Amino acid sequence: MSWVTKIPKIELHVHLEGSIPLNALWTLMEKYGGDSKVKTIEDLQAKFIYTDFPHFIETWVWKNQFLREYEDFTYIAEEVAKDFVDQNIVYAEMFHSPSDFFKLGLNAQQLVEAIRNGFNKVPDIHINLVPDLIRDYGPKIGMKTLHKIHEVKEYGVVGITIGGSEQSFPPEPYAEVYKKARDFGFKTSAHAGEAAGPDSIWGAIKTLKVDRIGHGTSAIQDMELMDYLAKHQIPVEMCPISNLKTGSVTSIEKHPIRQFFEKGIPISINTDDPKMFGNSLAEEYELLIKKFGFTKNEIIQIQQQSITSSWASDSLKNELAEQISNFSL
Ligand SMILES: [Zn+2]
Repeated sequence: MSWVTKIPKIELHVHLEGSIPLNALWTLMEKYGGDSKVKTIEDLQAKFIYTDFPHFIETWVWKNQFLREYEDFTYIAEEVAKDFVDQNIVYAEMFHSPSDFFKLGLNAQQLVEAIRNGFNKVPDIHINLVPDLIRDYGPKIGMKTLHKIHEVKEYGVVGITIGGSEQSFPPEPYAEVYKKARDFGFKTSAHAGEAAGPDSIWGAIKTLKVDRIGHGTSAIQDMELMDYLAKHQIPVEMCPISNLKTGSVTSIEKHPIRQFFEKGIPISINTDDPKMFGNSLAEEYELLIKKFGFTKNEIIQIQQQSITSSWASDSLKNELAEQISNFSL
């Protein structure tokens, strides 16, 4: 087993609905009558190749039609957690998108409960939940969802993010939602600088006052912003392979991850939607070593940065940090 496979790993930016192992998604497709254009698992794999970011969002919505009942969420949560354990992922902050399923009559509270029931069946990994309020639904629905999520905070809901169509929905209208989230004791992140430019990141920092930035890739276009991220030690959840697959970067060589690291910005490495991009955390690390010249020690350093910038309890952070440093000995 290779070093990148064996090392205990941390995910801070990963979406539950984008992490469903293909066999499990296939089972759900069969449950709901399938899709006449997707006849085999190979067809399913081929469907997960995107021309651009809007095409990715379109495919995301297509896949969600096979999630209809609470038990489907318990099922995928268990399957995803098992898959993570197989990859030596020891801690994850997992996004999920409750608002995508309101139209089916499902509610945010029971969705959280259903997902937690699935995670509970897999005791070898700690997973905290981070609902994604999806900017396409607007701040009004976001605020309502936030209140519902707050009722089930004890199920390990530690923070919120906003994903979705960043290019069409800037962060500023979410200022009140983020303020309320902080009042409720949630940590905050926002997808920013993935499908839009540096202004979107500035908006997330200055208006939403986020604890972390999701992606942040386009910060490289604005040196003042890079300085700001470093000076204020704002953690950035980076997802290199995702950025390549959605066309956020035109080639992997153009990904700015090395510049972020050199600058001293606390980055973490994440897969985003591993089963929709066909990537794994081990492959992300492999890429850092092969394409960007990261050493094993630097990878360990990024791992420790992930732990520091995570929203785990202090005792869990200590435990995780020890697990990683024991591995590096
Ligand atoms: Zn994401």
